[in-house]
Amino acid sequence: MERAVNRRETTRRGFLKTAGGGILALALATLPFAKTAFGAEGKPAFDLPEPPYPFDALEPHLSRRTLEFHHGKHHRAYVDKANQIVKDTGLAGLSLEELIRKTASLPDKTALFNNAAQAWNHAFYWRGMKPGGGGPPKGALLDLVNTAFGGYGAFREAMLKAAAGQFGSGWVWLVREKGGKLAVTATGNAGTPLTGGATPLLTMDVWEHAYYLDYQNRRGDYAAAFMDSLVNWGFVENNLKAE
Ligand code: MN
Repeated sequence: MERAVNRRETTRRGFLKTAGGGILALALATLPFAKTAFGAEGKPAFDLPEPPYPFDALEPHLSRRTLEFHHGKHHRAYVDKANQIVKDTGLAGLSLEELIRKTASLPDKTALFNNAAQAWNHAFYWRGMKPGGGGPPKGALLDLVNTAFGGYGAFREAMLKAAAGQFGSGWVWLVREKGGKLAVTATGNAGTPLTGGATPLLTMDVWEHAYYLDYQNRRGDYAAAFMDSLVNWGFVENNLKAE
């Protein structure tokens, strides 16, 4: 984590050091990252958030090459396309989340929905991982997992089963349902819990581009590595607090 490989990461660390204190770090960590309102004329509506770690930080579970392609090509393309399409709609001024909820039910805005939702899902995905993550959560979060699934092992199995069972491209989610209980769900393609009643807490990208360079067709091995070595439980906790 000490090897800051990109300029933005370096700048962010410098800023944190200057301003000092965990409170600011916590504030940044919980900042709604995709609520960029439309900027001035000609300025892109939505930005491409960097993962909160260097591109090689998740090795050996996810390679630098995977993160460079996944973030620099795939995620960037969704953001660019959403910015390009939204310019010609009457939906200026909406946050990314608002745009996703609005376009989900508009049949003539499918391309905009797909690209906006993919932009949001990817930003959420990066922040749900960290170097040295994974394994069971602790404290109150473990209690919630035990209540909902009967134990961490059963929860892990539910995530792996959802990953294996999602036919084609999509996303596996840990969500908090309206009643407050945790649940595992899957969405196809650009689907996102933002358009339903549940609160997204964590997501695993199961599009082939997320794992093919490192795992080829072995989605199950990627899903196991995600659960055992990558999950950022602090991110899940922050999402529960932010509800
Ligand atoms: Mn992806």
